Amino acid sequence: MTFKDVIVVGGGAAGFFAAINIAEQNPNLKVAILERSKEGLAKVKVSGGGRCNVTHAEFIPKELTQNYPRGEKELLGPFHQFMTGDTIEWFEKHGVELKIEDDGRMFPVSNSSQTIINCFLNEAEKHQVEVFYSHIVKAIDPQDQQFKIETSQGDFLTNKLLIATGSNPKIWNLLEPLGHTISQPVPSLFTFNIKDERIQDIPGVVAQDVEVKVLDTNLWSEGPLLITHWGMSAPSILKLSAFGALELAKRDYKFQIEINFIRQTFNDCLEVLKTLKQDLAKKTVFKSTQFDIPKRLWHKLVLASGMEMETRWADLNKEKLENLAGQLTQAIFKVDGKSTFKEEFVTAGGINLKEIDFKTFESKRVKNLYFAGEVINVDAITGGFNFQNAWTGAYIAAKNIAQ
Ligand SMILES: Cc1cc2nc3c(=O)[nH]c(=O)nc-3n(C[C@H](O)[C@H](O)[C@H](O)COP(=O)(O)OP(=O)(O)OC[C@H]3O[C@@H](n4cnc5c(N)ncnc54)[C@H](O)[C@@H]3O)c2cc1C
Repeated sequence: MTFKDVIVVGGGAAGFFAAINIAEQNPNLKVAILERSKEGLAKVKVSGGGRCNVTHAEFIPKELTQNYPRGEKELLGPFHQFMTGDTIEWFEKHGVELKIEDDGRMFPVSNSSQTIINCFLNEAEKHQVEVFYSHIVKAIDPQDQQFKIETSQGDFLTNKLLIATGSNPKIWNLLEPLGHTISQPVPSLFTFNIKDERIQDIPGVVAQDVEVKVLDTNLWSEGPLLITHWGMSAPSILKLSAFGALELAKRDYKFQIEINFIRQTFNDCLEVLKTLKQDLAKKTVFKSTQFDIPKRLWHKLVLASGMEMETRWADLNKEKLENLAGQLTQAIFKVDGKSTFKEEFVTAGGINLKEIDFKTFESKRVKNLYFAGEVINVDAITGGFNFQNAWTGAYIAAKNIAQ
């Protein structure tokens, strides 16, 4: 049996960040990571399209929390302890400079996730964190204020245990006998499958600022919308998929959405169209794109309003004007299923939030047991927020363990 003062289960983002911080803050502690794969940090490697979207340039804790469909309330306190600015500073101190992109996402200046991996591997080595690869944790047994951990390659004993295994149902099963409950995992961050003439054959078209509602729910969002080969994507849709993860799973991903492509009310839009009818009387509706919406989308919506390509503005009767206003501001689409977003997926679900003390990330059920990262029932929309959750939880748990 191998003894370590601290054992971190899971050599991913949260596990490495925690282990390094524990060893750095308290060099007297023997710290080890148990990782089931041959290499750790697999998700960091592929994250952000291989560039690793480390965090997001949002510096107000309350605003930052609003990107977490699960964890919004619980993360406010932790973000006052460690958030974006601290992440930037931490990486800078450890030799990694980050940059901000126009949309707020932050990446290493190198544009390579390998920079983050190298940083973690170097720091782990420097602070003598021992990483046991190909060690699958199979059982956790609390014994006289210590934990015995059974792995595929032998047993370990430790005083303090940090679980950072991401969304792994097998580990959740091991935690239930210790008194923890698990919020059922469902996918988050997905795109919507939609078959509809109005978006057929125009993949790549982006409406810059739309409002989307899911009918018969309180779910709504705003932002860019991308038409894809299979349906719709981009922030307006991904936000709905995250905030509606549970609700949409219950509906088996079959529901209706209403899109306002121009963010004006139906009546305001109708007034504008009536004016256009006067001003552009002799022009064809099809060819005179309005409201800054993409030309190809305008063509589709005009045809869906019951007009011909040759219809002139002067020919529009009340019904046609109303149809077009409806298509622009209240277009209903039927969603039938979901697809993965650029292979990036996140799982909603995990250790019940009520069972964790968010001042320390220690379990309220078992003393000296800590959690960080996606193993907890916290998840965020895309943009660097999921990693920020991993850094924050890992740092705070590390600080408490190191003390
Ligand atoms: C393709 C992709 C791209 C992404 N891009 C981004 C991005 O750019 N920005 C962002 O913020 N988020 C991104 N995410 C989400 C982000 O990767 C996760 O939120 C984050 O990795 C969670 O960190 P974690 O340490 O909690 O879990 P993980 O990174 O999943 O690490 C868990 C580790 O535990 C190990 N483990 C599991 N079970 C056991 C066991 N029984 N014994 C031993 N070890 C075990 C696993 O092998 C793994 O190494 C992306 C996700 C994906 C899938």
